[in-house]
Amino acid sequence: MAMSYYPKEGNPLWEQYSTKAVAQTLETYSKHTFDYPYPVAISVHTKWIGMEYPMICFNGGRPAADGTYSARTKHGMISVIIHEVGHNYFPMIVASDERQWTWMDEGLNTFLQYLTEQEFDRNYPSRRGEPRNIVDYMKGDKDKISPIMTNSESIHQFGNNAYGKPATALNILRETIMGRELFDHAFKEYSQRWMFKHPEPADLFRSMEDASAVDLDWFWRGWFFTNEHVDLSIDKVVWYTIKDMDPEAMEKARQEEEAEEAPMRNYERNLGDIPETRLEKDPTLNDFYTRPEERYGITDEERHAFTDFKDALTEEEKAMYYSGDQFYEITFSNHGGLVMPLIVKFDYVDGSSEIIHVPAEIWKKNHETVTKVFKVEKEAKAIYLDPYQETADVDMNNNAWPSISYPSRFELFKQNYAGWGGGGPNEMQKKGLGKKKEGEE
Ligand SMILES: [Zn+2]
Repeated sequence: MAMSYYPKEGNPLWEQYSTKAVAQTLETYSKHTFDYPYPVAISVHTKWIGMEYPMICFNGGRPAADGTYSARTKHGMISVIIHEVGHNYFPMIVASDERQWTWMDEGLNTFLQYLTEQEFDRNYPSRRGEPRNIVDYMKGDKDKISPIMTNSESIHQFGNNAYGKPATALNILRETIMGRELFDHAFKEYSQRWMFKHPEPADLFRSMEDASAVDLDWFWRGWFFTNEHVDLSIDKVVWYTIKDMDPEAMEKARQEEEAEEAPMRNYERNLGDIPETRLEKDPTLNDFYTRPEERYGITDEERHAFTDFKDALTEEEKAMYYSGDQFYEITFSNHGGLVMPLIVKFDYVDGSSEIIHVPAEIWKKNHETVTKVFKVEKEAKAIYLDPYQETADVDMNNNAWPSISYPSRFELFKQNYAGWGGGGPNEMQKKGLGKKKEGEE
């Protein structure tokens, strides 16, 4: 049974949310692991801590004396309740050694906390789990970043290392590498195999692989055993189309090319400085090469040759010749160290778009740079790498063709800075809500 203990100081937040947050936690976590085996789950009110024990936990989140509260207090409270109730699963039941490997319970728990928050409210402002939220940590000073696979006594930046990064890595595995169905099956398999037992990291790695039949060695190695980050780039795009052999079309293309050529400075100045060239003065100097209608005009022989060419094509060649296919040869580089799938979005000139996934195995023979030809049906006006920012790529400025620069997010960070309670009046108070004290208007 889901229960909450709280004094009247916890209201209105606690009576409205606590027990329902406990219930949602049991529902979401059980779906991804095993049925909750204990008789009760209890959330006890505190001012601002979060601490877990089997079946009971102590959680912060107290409204102001006038009954109002900030959005941060509300979400902080719901998140801490989900998190501490979630610890029943990891490490109370799947009993990893949190003194040795903090991430094995905190990371897995933070991952399921993220899934639970999103099931509670689809607009829930989850702090950890979304790849873009881990970028600032991942691109930071490497002297202050330990691999996840570091003993808990020696970790730098505990919260990011043992909570945020493993939670994000699991989310990326689920959404981008394995897919939800395969990931959920394998994660559940791990949870059930290790219920009431003591798993080590290799037990998690192995279960996720053998339950899904996906080789994830490269992923564990990069994300868990190094402090490298993701920074892939589009370096070069070369566009090919199938050449139209029709003599009329070829002549049109030649004229267009000529018109597009950059003007030459000397030529332009000579137009003024040389009133008349010898050729212009003396038409007898003209021949085949100075008469465009002779040189570029199309003869019947050329027209027949084109017809013969078309007749000689096989069915397969014909299909290709008339397909209108476009070929984009794209060169990608890996600047951060971690390899990731290539998620490539083509925006076409007709306004439509398409996303093509290339598995991370493309980096197998060269982890620094790869080139791949993409065959698409339409002409592209822009190409983007990782359009949904699902790989935690730390620099999006080198992910587009033609290149684009993104504005700095400095202002955003400044605005977000506030502690549990924050400073100044909360948003409800600014709208005039809250109980008035006696004597106040
Ligand atoms: Zn925890």
